[in-house]
Amino acid sequence: MFVTSLIHPSTATTIRSCSRCGREFRTVGRAHICPECRQPKPREAKSSTDTLSAREKQLAGLVYQAKSNKEIANDLHLAEGTIKEYLHTIFRKLGVKNRTELALWIAHHQGSAA
Ligand SMILES: [Zn+2]
Repeated sequence: MFVTSLIHPSTATTIRSCSRCGREFRTVGRAHICPECRQPKPREAKSSTDTLSAREKQLAGLVYQAKSNKEIANDLHLAEGTIKEYLHTIFRKLGVKNRTELALWIAHHQGSAA
């Protein structure tokens, strides 16, 4: 005996839970992310300056005290390579080129911060 199914599996919608937000959504395909999560999110328009993390500020302060990477690494119990990475981030955020400019930047901005 033949049973003819009128429902084509390829067109049947399935309910899945989004692998990103966990919300349930209906899909015909094999998507595992809901349509909302698939939308590209608008980038947050954040100004890059003055957004140093607490750690970066601490590090910038040590550079201002004319400490070498090695000394800073010892002080913070971090690897010298990590210090370099931090400095690179700080330079980029503040728009300075080197530790001298960073020190000048701090000197210029010191006191203006509440
Ligand atoms: Zn989602």
